[in-house]
Formats: sequence, C-alpha cells, structure tokens
Amino acid sequence: MLGLIQDRPLLIHSLIDFAAEFHGDVEIVSRTVEGPIHRCTYRDLASRSKRVARMLDRLGVALGDRIGTLAWNGYRHMELYFGVSGMGAVLHTLNPRLFPEQITYIANHAEDKYIFFDLTFAPLIEALADHLPNVKGFVAMTDAAHMPDIKVDRLHCYETLLEAETDDYEWPSFDERTASSLCYTSGTTGNPKGVLYSHRSTVLHSWAVCTMDGLALSSHDVVLPVVPMFHANAWGLPYAAAMCGAKMVMPGARLDGESVYELLETENVTLSAGVPTVWLMLLGHVKAKGLKFSTMNRTVIGGSAAPRSMIETFQRDYGVDVIHAWGMTEMSPLGTTGNLRAKHAALPFDKQIDVRVKQGRAIFGVDLKIVDDDGKELPHDGKAFGHLLVRGPWITNGYFKGEGGKILDDEDFFDTGDVATLDPDGYMQITDRSKDVIKSGGEWISSIDVENEAVGCPGIAEAAVIAVPHPKWAERPLMIAVRKPDADVTKEAVLDHLTRHIAKWQLPDDIVFVDELPHTATGKLLKTKLREQFKDYKLP
Ligand code: ADP
Repeated sequence: MLGLIQDRPLLIHSLIDFAAEFHGDVEIVSRTVEGPIHRCTYRDLASRSKRVARMLDRLGVALGDRIGTLAWNGYRHMELYFGVSGMGAVLHTLNPRLFPEQITYIANHAEDKYIFFDLTFAPLIEALADHLPNVKGFVAMTDAAHMPDIKVDRLHCYETLLEAETDDYEWPSFDERTASSLCYTSGTTGNPKGVLYSHRSTVLHSWAVCTMDGLALSSHDVVLPVVPMFHANAWGLPYAAAMCGAKMVMPGARLDGESVYELLETENVTLSAGVPTVWLMLLGHVKAKGLKFSTMNRTVIGGSAAPRSMIETFQRDYGVDVIHAWGMTEMSPLGTTGNLRAKHAALPFDKQIDVRVKQGRAIFGVDLKIVDDDGKELPHDGKAFGHLLVRGPWITNGYFKGEGGKILDDEDFFDTGDVATLDPDGYMQITDRSKDVIKSGGEWISSIDVENEAVGCPGIAEAAVIAVPHPKWAERPLMIAVRKPDADVTKEAVLDHLTRHIAKWQLPDDIVFVDELPHTATGKLLKTKLREQFKDYKLP
C-alpha cells in the first residue's frame, strides 16, 4: 500500500523561488572580475535567473543541452546555476585551471552548446574557440561596456542578452531525476570523466548540508565559499544557501589571504569553506598582521586532509570551529563531516583534536564500508584499513556517456579510490589513496598524463609519477624514471620536454632516475610500492 502523500518533484528552481519569497532581501555580495563589489538580493537573483532561462529558450537551448561555464564564484555564475538547470538544461562547470587541451577535450566530450565565461578567461576562449565546433555561441559574462576585444565569432554579451528578457517566466516541471549539472573529474585512466547530477540529488544534498551535523548552514549564516563553483558545485553551497536563505559572499578571482580576509571581515562572514592550501595562505596573512576573525565561527576544510596544526590554530588561537569534511565530485560532494559528538565536549583539547583530524562521520544518506582486496568487509575498529566504498542518493552510479563502464559493486557501492579506517563511533580516517591521481592545492594532476608525456621524451624508457606529501599544496608530483639503455637524458631535459605539453603547475617537483620500476604480475606499475618507498622523500 502506498502512502497518501503528494509526490512533488524535487527541482532546483524551487530553491531560488523559496529564497526569493522568504529571504528576498538577503544579499549576495560578489567581488567582480571587472573590479567593484556587486550587491544584489535573492529577489534580484531569482528574477535574473528567470531571465537567464528565457534567454536560453530564445537561443534554442533544449531540455538536456549542456551549457558550459568558465567562471569564478560570483552572482552571474549563481544565476546560471539556477537559470540553466531550472529551465531543464545541464550546467557544465569547466575547470579553467586545466590545460587548454584538457578543457577542449572536456567541452567537446560534453558537447557544450554555449559557453559562458568571465572576462579573465577571454584569452582562453579566443585560443579554444576554433577547437570547439559544437559550441553555438560564447557569452562574455559582463556588460556591453566591458566586452573583451577578442577575435571570436559567435560572441555574445551576457548583460545585453539579459536586457532583452523579462522575468515573466514559469519554470517547467519535469521528472526530479532529470540531469541538472555536470562536473568532470580526473580519473585514474587519464581521461577526465563526467559526473552528472540530478535535480533530486542536488536538493537532497542541500538538505544534508543544512543539517546541524552536516554544515549546519542556516539563515543566520553569512557564507563565503572559497572553494570554486567549478569544483563539485562549490561543495553544494550555492544551492544550500538558497534553501536556507544564508547570505552569500563570493570572492571572485582573488583568493589570496589578504583579499579573502578583507571580505570575511567587511561582510561579517560566519562560515567559509575551502581546501587546506587556501587556509594556509589566510592563516599566514592573519598571523603576520596580528589580526583575528571578528565573526567567522566555523570553517569547512576539505578536498585534502586538514593538517593537525591547522585545526589546532583555528580552534585554539582564533576560536574558529573546524568542520573537517571529506567527499568527492562523484558524491555531490559531501560524504562525511568531522563534527564532535556530545560525549566529546568534556574531552581535553588534545583529545578533541584527535577526533577532529579524522575525516568525520557519514551524514544521513551516505552509507560507508571498508573492504579488503577481495571485497570482504573489514571491522570498524579504527585500525583495520581498506578500500572505502560509498552508496547513497547523491552518489554517482556511472560516468557520463558510460565512460569507465560499470562502476558499482553488487550492492551498488562505489569505490572512492581512498583507503580508510572506520572507528566504533563511525569516524572515518583516510590513510592512503589507491587511485593514482595527485592532488595539489585542491586541483588534480593526472599522473598518467604526465607519465605519457614523459615517455615521449627522447631517452626515457619508463616513468612513474606519484604524490609526495607537501606542507603547502598537500601533495606534489614526484617522477621516478628509467632511462633508455645508453641514454644520458637529464632532469632538465625531461622538464623542458614536459613544459611543452602540460601546465606548469602540473610539472613534477623533482625527477629521480632508477634502473628499474616495480610492476604487478599483469605488468602495471606498482605505485603502492613506490609510494611506500618515497613517502619521506624531501622535494627540493
Ligand atoms: P573535492 O576536491 O571537491 O573534495 P574531488 O572529487 O576533486 O573533490 O576529490 C575527492 C578526493 O579528494 C577524495 O577521494 C580524497 O582522495 C580527497 N579528499 C577530499 N577530502 C579529503 C579530506 N578531508 N581528507 C583527505 N582527502 C580528502
């Protein structure tokens, strides 16, 4: 027997409609690429999102079409979040930090129909436009006065397009499982793979963000996501903020300690979110200038492990609660949060930090398990470590266009590629990563891409690239290479070769030459062994 309850679809447009109606005067403050600080309200944003939807209609965008963005955190990007998904198209956030060839691959793979870009990326659009044959138009996210002088046909001005529209628009209704947004992640195979979110998964994830043991986001908060909107939807914060009417502060392109601090203070921010590298810069600035945080009472640190000293400094020196969070693009991205339990309140400071350094406990909706190499479940004793698998209504069940094939086990669990322990209280701790990607300052470096380019260098027979712990960037790449017989190729020559093929920040910090690399029985590089061997390696 079915319950007698209305079956209303969970759709993204309802988030911005709710914000406009019940938190209409709450502000969205953005540091614009053009320079000045821009202020608008949820009411304005809802109205402009509807104009975005009408504009897309007029441009011939249909249900399911992909709309790319190359943009920082700002109000126009947020309008696209609601306008694009709300009208039934798929918002595809491209990561501008990738190498241009990777961006081209991703935009073509996604078959983006239009690409919206911030002025910062005008030169990039000029360089890429000819390689993106499916794109019907490039829309500069600015007004007519600031249009970039680039040689791109099919170029439009965002504000000019919006001016032609009214906000007299009825959001369409459709199945809540309809695709809403798309975000590519660097996989172990080198080719980036698309994670396709749905309206339902996004709304459910927003609810989880707003729960007390999630990120406790509420209408009392002013939230500043340093984590970019092209990174797993800024950890879902733009949607969740609309759901609860939190004021948003968008930092735009300036993510250095001084600029972020200034916004935290002038806008009375209570909650911020970002990767450890960002907080290292912020804490460096605050310490050097003898400053403190007047309103920020908690900060979400994720993307890489939050170092113990960073958690201690925030908690002890600045009275800021650290919410250590773990997740991944494939998980929308939130999986666990490191909030203390009630029983931890009485613990001494050091013991509390012991809890906070762990990546936290599952939020409702996320099932976790750890298994050994044979898929057998391991005990939750805080000691046994194994592959971390996840399942839940905002976790992917397969990559876009079937890339990577079947990715779930027989019980629908997805292998995160992380290795972890689970303790009796359910706190998860990452101990290693079985996937080969390297995470530097929150951005992926595909070890396979770098290896493939390296073996194209004359004199190199084989190369392996692994992550080595790094105090600022969390991880940096180290290359271990084998020369061809009789070759005398140098480190400088290899780096020179790589510079022509990969982005500068993706270059290995060092190259070590060895006679032989370890392999598995099937001939694959045995990176676990290399990681073990070089775990204490001191990068120059
Ligand atoms: P995001 O950077 O948005 O969190 P990604 O999909 O780019 O998501 O990266 C996910 C991976 O980052 C995880 O599988 C894990 O390896 C690593 N990661 C994320 N959060 C943490 C954390 N708190 N501690 C350690 N590693 C983390």
